[in-house]
Amino acid sequence: MRELDGLRAVVTGGASGIGLATARLLAARGARVVCLDLAPDGLPAPLTGIRADVSDAGVAGAVERAAASLGGVDILVNNAGIGAQGAIGENDDAEWRRVFEVNVFGVVRVTRAALPFLRRSAHASVVNTCSIAATAGLPQRALYSATKGAVLSLTLASAADLVTENIRVNCVNPGTVDTPWIGRLLDRAPDPGAERAALSARQPIGRLVHADEVAAAIAYLASPLSGSTTGTALPVDGGMSGLRLRPR
Ligand code: NAD
Repeated sequence: MRELDGLRAVVTGGASGIGLATARLLAARGARVVCLDLAPDGLPAPLTGIRADVSDAGVAGAVERAAASLGGVDILVNNAGIGAQGAIGENDDAEWRRVFEVNVFGVVRVTRAALPFLRRSAHASVVNTCSIAATAGLPQRALYSATKGAVLSLTLASAADLVTENIRVNCVNPGTVDTPWIGRLLDRAPDPGAERAALSARQPIGRLVHADEVAAAIAYLASPLSGSTTGTALPVDGGMSGLRLRPR
């Protein structure tokens, strides 16, 4: 008997990086998983995908299709997200709206659409992929940090709203995770290899976080093993938020 046998999971942004690692791990632990993604092609079996944009109202229909194909939803992982660079003065209104549409309203829309199904589950758990940016005060990340601050507050407030309905809501706060997203950022540097080494050296653990490590935290929060845990943010950040060490 695996810990997620019989459970049904929807993972947004499940075709790459943290979302793909999570979808694979949930499936390996027994869940049936549908990934909602802008580009869900080529997912490895047994994962299935539905093309959906969390920034579009039509994503509600995709959640309903996923629930119909799974016969319900027990686990929702709100992971789809996009980055944004820039200080407070540097992004215009259109950019603020675009990133909030994905990172914040995406979580709201997908959670709202999944709620009727989660209410019928005996093991309902929502896990949001937040970020240490929610509380860290990172330079050149005003917009991105604000979206993740909103995801953190949404996590805590919806946990409070849903606790009496036996729906748990938690989030993970990753640090710098080695995913295609970070790969794309490093590729913009004149020397991506040197930039990767410098970035790794800035982490207390001396390396980037692996996507599988974030997936393991999400899988724990998604599983009945964490049945007494709701309204929490679990850092998976190589010590960035908790330690007061000088970088190596
Ligand atoms: P990634 O770019 O590798 O994967 C993101 C996935 O989300 C892609 O498959 C993409 O197609 C999908 N996606 C993007 N916009 C979408 C939309 N509008 N609708 C549906 N799907 C969409 O990124 P990742 O590094 O795995 O990041 C995943 C999550 O983790 C994001 O929420 C990000 O903010 C968060 N995060 C990442 C890091 C990091 O260092 N990589 C750190 C902290 C938090």
